[in-house]
Amino acid sequence: NPAKSNYHPVSDATWSREEKVPYLALATTFQHIEETSGRLRIIEILSNLLRSIIVLSPDDLLPTIYLCLNSVAPAFAGVELNVGEGILVKAIAQSTGRSVDCIKADTKQLGDLGKVAEASKSNQRMMFRPAKLTINSVFQKLKEIATMTGNSSQAKKVDKIKSMFVACVECEARYLIRSLGGKLRIGLAEQSVLQALAQACYLTPPGQEHPAKILNAGKGLSTESIKAKVEELALIIKTTYCECPSYDLMIPVLLSSGVLSLPEHCKLTPGMPLKPMLAHPTKGVSEVFKRFEDNKFTCEYKYDGERAQIHLLEDGSVRVFSRNQEDNTTKYPDIIQRLQSSLGPDVKTCILDTEAVAWDKEKKQILPFQVLSTRKRKDVKESDIKVQVCVFPFDLLYLNGQSLVREPFEKRRTLLRENFKEIEGEFTMAKSMDSTNTEDIQEFLDESIKGMCEGLMVKTLDVDATYEIAKRSHNWLKLKKDYLDGVGDSIDVVVIGGYMGKGKRAGQYGGFLLACYDPDNEEFQSICKIGTGFTDESLAQHSAFFKEHCIDSPKSYYRYNSAVEPDQWFDAVQVWEIKCADLSVSPVHTAAAGVVDPEKGISLRFPRFIRVRDDKSPELATSAQQIADMYNSQDQIKNSAAEAKNSA
Ligand code: ATP
Repeated sequence: NPAKSNYHPVSDATWSREEKVPYLALATTFQHIEETSGRLRIIEILSNLLRSIIVLSPDDLLPTIYLCLNSVAPAFAGVELNVGEGILVKAIAQSTGRSVDCIKADTKQLGDLGKVAEASKSNQRMMFRPAKLTINSVFQKLKEIATMTGNSSQAKKVDKIKSMFVACVECEARYLIRSLGGKLRIGLAEQSVLQALAQACYLTPPGQEHPAKILNAGKGLSTESIKAKVEELALIIKTTYCECPSYDLMIPVLLSSGVLSLPEHCKLTPGMPLKPMLAHPTKGVSEVFKRFEDNKFTCEYKYDGERAQIHLLEDGSVRVFSRNQEDNTTKYPDIIQRLQSSLGPDVKTCILDTEAVAWDKEKKQILPFQVLSTRKRKDVKESDIKVQVCVFPFDLLYLNGQSLVREPFEKRRTLLRENFKEIEGEFTMAKSMDSTNTEDIQEFLDESIKGMCEGLMVKTLDVDATYEIAKRSHNWLKLKKDYLDGVGDSIDVVVIGGYMGKGKRAGQYGGFLLACYDPDNEEFQSICKIGTGFTDESLAQHSAFFKEHCIDSPKSYYRYNSAVEPDQWFDAVQVWEIKCADLSVSPVHTAAAGVVDPEKGISLRFPRFIRVRDDKSPELATSAQQIADMYNSQDQIKNSAAEAKNSA
């Protein structure tokens, strides 16, 4: 039982050294985690299982980590587990002899196909038991299923799922079915998996020759010093993962040489996309000064296009990755072809952080984001391109075998300017200004808006100016025109339900229920209803889109109050960017519930639709914490305005 305290990685394991790790060991761990709410306890439970795997069956560590993350390959490989509910229902029906309609009806009642699968399975009598499922066999089959394409793939998937499903015992069916659908949702965030891995590696260090050493680590040390050591290892694992986001590369190194050797062997490499550094919103030039005080900083135009991380590999090939690490190489043959002309003579390998923006060649000016979004997404032929783009590089993260992410921005910017040539309308350095004069900044901001940009990005230059991978940093501030009057930043939310329209909107959805995402609890929390900002045409398009994503009942990970129950629930598949007048504490909405107010959540007032965010997955929607921060900073603004008035 991995939930046991004083767990011993050998005597408490449910399998022996010669055996492959049974899938049941993982499924049981998932069940304990699902029933636990404290993060530290969850980490302990998972780390117990990982410790046993490290000592008894190290080869199974990699598949275990992937299964915990509900994935089968690095994010950038584009191999995703999301088998449709129809296929899963079919496989369960065929394996258990139950009808598809019964399974659907049960799912509607329970809100979780995994639980229905488990119940359907436990009522079934078996003549003989198929071989036990192992972590490795499940992982391999999931991987095969995720990579199947083509006409007959549906039937093949059903067969493969059935072959595993018949062998499921106890709670295995629940987690197998959820994993296949890409919705494990047991409240195990990626950061907790990495923390558990660090804890396991500290208590049961891999890469030791003598098993006694593996089992005795941490003995006699105080809880405090163990905690500090675990934090140290966790930091190494997390930083390495940022620069080398592939467990395929990290886990074998970790097993053979230990955590401390990770930085030396797993490095930033062109071809492997990084999670981008992100910015914090600010409401005006005075806030910028308050945040940066004496720090040297620069202001850059904030271009409104699509983030493009451009990699030049050692073999001379070029790849372009999106903000979400998707491979956009075939979307931009023009960027790839032209990059050669912008490279300085000494550039052999590099990683550039840029914004690709739609460009009017004749008028030589930037076009709105909406124009860029009409461009085809994949397999674009250069001769068919109608929407031209100009690339605006704003950072250089890697050059000729050297990672630059730990260098200050001033140095990275100098190297960028020295090693790349500008070509008008094709490859132009992000426009910048280093003045710290308030009027100059205000003028530069106005100029950026006239130049079809969204505002400015303000960045530290020397102190605290490294490139913080995968982080929303306070060393990058965004200053958009609308911040000055509205609530601040726009908000990215997930559409989870629809309300039928009335009057001229009859027969289609006239409003929608929106949610933010809480990564700690892995749930979508309702934040407001929306019915404004749509043209009749866009409303019809949304209705048609969501008709394809209707679900019979809300998912178990939707947090909402029955007062806002929509006419139709949707699967969480699309992110919308919206704006609102302000944020307020709400008795009916559940966004960030318990953060700002002990019970109530936060809702958005007067929300209006801006655009669909195809470049964000639902889990990348604005987080519950960001919503709470926005609410608080709005309060600060109100208070300081009130103070100013009182003292006047
Ligand atoms: P976020 O990325 O913060 O969740 P978002 O995707 O809506 O939100 P914004 O916060 O509006 O984006 O702005 C950050 C984005 O601005 C970057 O991801 C990048 O694509 C774009 N950008 C444009 N110009 C610059 C620049 N000069 N420096 C950095 N980013 C820029």
